[in-house]
Amino acid sequence: MLDRLGSSLKDALKKLAGKTVVDRAAVEELVKDLQRALIQSDVNVKLVMNLSQAIKTRSLEEEPLKGMGVREHVLRIVYQELVGLMGPEVEVTLGQQTILMAGLQGSGKTTTTAKLARYFQRKGLRVAVICGDTFRPGAYQQISTLCQKINVPCFGDPNETDAVKIVTKGLKSVGQAEVLIIDTQGRHALEEGLIQEIVDLNTLSKATHRWLVIDAALGQQASEQARRFHQAIDIDGVIITKMDGTAKGGGALSAVAETKSGIVFIGSGETIEDLERFDPDGFISRLLGMGDLKALVERAEEAITTEDVDVNSMLRGKFTLRDMYKQLEAVNKMGPLKQIMSMLPLGNVDIPNDVYEVTGTKMVRYRIIMDSMTNEELDDPAVIGSSRMHRIATGAGASPDEVRELLRYHKTMQRALKGMRGAGGKFNMQRMMKRFSG
Ligand code: GDP
Repeated sequence: MLDRLGSSLKDALKKLAGKTVVDRAAVEELVKDLQRALIQSDVNVKLVMNLSQAIKTRSLEEEPLKGMGVREHVLRIVYQELVGLMGPEVEVTLGQQTILMAGLQGSGKTTTTAKLARYFQRKGLRVAVICGDTFRPGAYQQISTLCQKINVPCFGDPNETDAVKIVTKGLKSVGQAEVLIIDTQGRHALEEGLIQEIVDLNTLSKATHRWLVIDAALGQQASEQARRFHQAIDIDGVIITKMDGTAKGGGALSAVAETKSGIVFIGSGETIEDLERFDPDGFISRLLGMGDLKALVERAEEAITTEDVDVNSMLRGKFTLRDMYKQLEAVNKMGPLKQIMSMLPLGNVDIPNDVYEVTGTKMVRYRIIMDSMTNEELDDPAVIGSSRMHRIATGAGASPDEVRELLRYHKTMQRALKGMRGAGGKFNMQRMMKRFSG
């Protein structure tokens, strides 16, 4: 997602490394690179120009904060300006609420409804869904199948053509839900009938939130939809889907932010778990390669209980087989490893691809193998020689090669984590973030 933009931004900032004074030529070169990167990811030219001007003026006129080098000074300004481009942060509350979903057909509204159901369910809330999409054939089938998978009740009636009637019945039948999500119809274009229906459903359901789903591939055109729906029902959050599949994500994000509608979530894939909270700070930090420890820790806290993986100890570099065991379990709950890694402050450290390539089945195999290890072996895999290896393999019903593979995997992980520590040493992320928030 926006990988190219991220790496261009990082490259642009790299050019400042080693500078001791903020000179005009360097800033201008940086700004030119930034402009190119932003325009390539479809951000509106006028927005880009305003942003460049602000970065230029501030970099040259503001005094660097005490103890801050040239690179940090400019980076901080670039960071703040880019965050500004992303609009306000939208809060998601975890109390009783009704969410009305709006959006055109094909935007990903139904999928996102299920993703949201999953999101709130993971937060421990009782969720229910009403399918008010009477326009698209198969809509009820689609949402009810998704809901069944996660055990969320879904109300609907494929034979009823009046959405108001369905929602009226639905509101009565899902009485005890804490979070009620109402999927509505989306047509191919912004037609009067569509707008009128969503206005009616909004009045009827007394929705706490009205969230609009927009396809990232629309790029700058996203603002038109955001504006129209906002006028009709006062949208209080936008979800931008399919960020995983487009180079226009920057355009959609900034265009929506410009309409003053905050972005609540972004959709980053087709599975029900591929929904991420959007917070402008974290998003931009990640884009600039500063890592997003806040998001990581939040996610980790949610997935793991205290006696499980200690992210901090992992970052300090202690990483035994036992840690890996817990980690494999946790990763299972936290989501794809690659995503988690992308939230860490890796700087320019390359993680070998095979680190990510542990499939679900392999994880189960690894755990079985680790179950036949002794505590001593788990704490210090260096003691595992060939005879121990055979004992472990036999105990786990595995081949010695599989045990070897597991140990290799552990080594790769350990090395990767050491690399991260190295990067952290050169670039003191925590100190830096503190300055930013001050
Ligand atoms: P609706 O007509 O707005 O209800 O759209 P759907 O929910 O049926 O989604 C349309 C298509 O987009 C489906 O094939 C979804 O799997 C896909 N989709 C939705 N969200 C995402 C996303 O975040 N990433 C990707 N890659 N595909 C998505």
